[in-house]
Amino acid sequence: QEDQFKKVISHAKEYGYIFGSSEIYDGLSAVYDYGQNGAELKKNIKEYWWKSMVHLHQNIVGLDAAILMHPTTWTASGHVDAFNDPLIDNKDSKKRYRADVLVEDYAEKLNLKAQKEIDKAKKRFGEAFDEAQFVATNPRVVRYKTQQKEILERLGKSLTNEDLDDVEALIEELGIADPITGSKNWTEVRQFNLMFATKLGASADTAQDLYLRPETAQGIFVNYLNVQKTGRMKIPFGIAQIGKAFRNEIVARQFIFRMREFEQMEMQFFVRPGEDQKWYEYWKETRLNWHKSLGLGEENYRFHDHEKLAHYANAATDIEFNFPFGFKELEGIHSRTDFDLKAHEKHSGKKLQFFDPEINESYTPYVVETSIGLDRMFLAVFSSALKDETLADGSTRTVLSLPAILAPVKAAVFPLVKKDGLPEIAQQIVADLQWDFNVLYDEKDAVGKRYRRQDAAGTPFCITVDHDTLENDTVTIRHRDSMEQQRVAIADLKGMLQKALEI
Ligand code: ATP
Repeated sequence: QEDQFKKVISHAKEYGYIFGSSEIYDGLSAVYDYGQNGAELKKNIKEYWWKSMVHLHQNIVGLDAAILMHPTTWTASGHVDAFNDPLIDNKDSKKRYRADVLVEDYAEKLNLKAQKEIDKAKKRFGEAFDEAQFVATNPRVVRYKTQQKEILERLGKSLTNEDLDDVEALIEELGIADPITGSKNWTEVRQFNLMFATKLGASADTAQDLYLRPETAQGIFVNYLNVQKTGRMKIPFGIAQIGKAFRNEIVARQFIFRMREFEQMEMQFFVRPGEDQKWYEYWKETRLNWHKSLGLGEENYRFHDHEKLAHYANAATDIEFNFPFGFKELEGIHSRTDFDLKAHEKHSGKKLQFFDPEINESYTPYVVETSIGLDRMFLAVFSSALKDETLADGSTRTVLSLPAILAPVKAAVFPLVKKDGLPEIAQQIVADLQWDFNVLYDEKDAVGKRYRRQDAAGTPFCITVDHDTLENDTVTIRHRDSMEQQRVAIADLKGMLQKALEI
């Protein structure tokens, strides 16, 4: 697993997907830049999300709010008081960790131990193996699972009560060690606010303290009435937004999984009070189906319903994805009640209500939120697409099997050789396709090598112009995943590509 993750990181760099930020100065930790292919993949993910959330739902509209917001926003949202993480330092290694992450990782280890027992038994009993029965009765598995559950429950309780002494006690009782040095010499747990502060205004005494937004959701809440009125929206309706968010994460690790500057794709759905549970279930299902539609493998997703709820929520779940380092949160779906709108009403003195003509009543709507990290989605797509394959003739190839709709370059066009007028025809094909599709021209190296280069870069189709083209205006089109080649008329290329990009 670790090897696969390293491969993902180096492949992302080698093929122009992701670079460390300001690398020539040795980089900035947990900040990344997207290269020529990364920028395209990211844009395609955004577009896919935007189309399915905004264009395919007549009652959802978009928004693009500013990153800087009035500072009271963050008092109202609770971020000034509650956007804290419990931190712990190791006295020997001087390394700093998030205390809850240390405990969660320990609990996850118990889970892995249980899984090992299950896998062993599966191998031993073969076909006859009844997994549910085994999990319910095998004493070791039961012990691991119960212990894991107890630890997480206790952690959840201490975090919601902010009883950090208990988190500290947990770390001691479980004998959790510094993951790098193995030392168990910990300091006490402290709270740390994750928001990045900045100043508005030039002179030191009049400058106002601002925060870079730690989530995009609040830009939607403060604009709720603007959009509802000007768009003449009727409940239920949604507002969607894609934009940057900033968190001064302490445990910045796992590549683009946890970044300090990242992008969110969020949708807030405003509903009638009392109908929140129904819509929460609806969005859970709809969002999971969205993920499945990309074909990254249904077994790579699972729900993780929260037992410990944030201060604003009455129900919450994560859609977890099987990243190279295991199942982790990819998207959050939260039933946020009327917490945010009520808080903004209180702090701004403005009414944020909706008059519902169907029931002849005014109320503050309830909100169901779907919130996904664009960068995490990128990592999910990229890591699950990267494969090493052994071919029938014993040779190997690296292939990045991105869904065609998300692939940065849709087709690469090659002249078989650099003479006989083939390059000119290939260039003309590029010129005819490039307004509709991102295509590229390549004439360097033998054609087999060019195929391999595009396989590794994730390009789903290679179009080759050869001497037959001169006779009959046809080319070969080679499919990345099956490596099959097909002879097609140049005039049919556009239609074929269009069709291949449908989902
Ligand atoms: P985590 O528990 O992993 O810190 P979270 O529960 O704080 O995440 P939310 O506040 O619910 O996350 O944010 C919604 C989504 O934004 C997450 O599901 C995740 O995909 C993404 N996200 C949150 N923090 C980061 C980050 N530091 N880097 C990249 N993506 C992030």
